[in-house]
Amino acid sequence: MKTATSCPVCDSKNISKKLDVKDYFLTQENFSLWKCKDCNLVFTNPRPEDEDLGRYYESPDYLSHNTGDSGFMGKLYRLLREKNIKRKYNIINKLIPTGTILDIGCGTGELLNYFKKNNWHCRGIEPNVKARSFAKMQYDLKVEDESCIKNFSPESFDIISMWHVLEHVPDVNKRMQETKHLLKKQGYLIIALPNPTSWDAAFYKNYWAGLDVPRHLYHFSPDAFRGLVNKHNLRIISRLPLKLDAFYVSLLSEQYKKNNFAIASAFFNGVRSNIKAANDGNYSSIIYILTHASN
Ligand SMILES: [Zn+2]
Repeated sequence: MKTATSCPVCDSKNISKKLDVKDYFLTQENFSLWKCKDCNLVFTNPRPEDEDLGRYYESPDYLSHNTGDSGFMGKLYRLLREKNIKRKYNIINKLIPTGTILDIGCGTGELLNYFKKNNWHCRGIEPNVKARSFAKMQYDLKVEDESCIKNFSPESFDIISMWHVLEHVPDVNKRMQETKHLLKKQGYLIIALPNPTSWDAAFYKNYWAGLDVPRHLYHFSPDAFRGLVNKHNLRIISRLPLKLDAFYVSLLSEQYKKNNFAIASAFFNGVRSNIKAANDGNYSSIIYILTHASN
């Protein structure tokens, strides 16, 4: 484990412990969340050494892969995944009709494959070896390891997307710099993040599945994320909800609480979270669309 004595984003020493949280998903190990009083960032502290992080992803459930399960849950899963892919495509297609996309953390490549079928020039980055080979074999995609991010030419992508990825990245400032460097002058950076200021986060507290320690190293409130964006001379042009996440995160959280009526409770709380967020925009997960600040 390594313990931070300053904020990993703004380097302030003005940090303090906020909440104890368990890795309910996999190891049942205990972690804590700390908050920076200067930039409001909440982060997991202490956290595993970078070379030890892989161990916390060693679960068959963590990878979203094509199971081919013909049962109801399998069908529902594929239906929701398809709907999700189309929504993401439509959001990006409205910004730029076609071009070059780099999806960082592309998993098994279903989203990139949809872009490829719509004549986009696609590149993927995926740290997981199995997911990477699946994407290459199944969809003939060009997917590389994280270490290859530095090999792309500067200003070569219209779109760079990280869907629920940035919160996992050990050096978040470095990643922001790298992606900004690869983004065209008129390009867009798409970042989806869980929102620790959502209604469901407040409701489930330390059981909230969006915390997902220690895989999530950062817990960006909209306010803290704006600070990171400004620091890198980028600008948020819009914020969009990921409404399904309220249900999915609630379901996992109910399972962590060992509720016997997890599905019913999760549905109810997912609806509550989305209704509340319709007023204040604090959805369970948020998609941020960024450009260079000069645009
Ligand atoms: Zn800070």
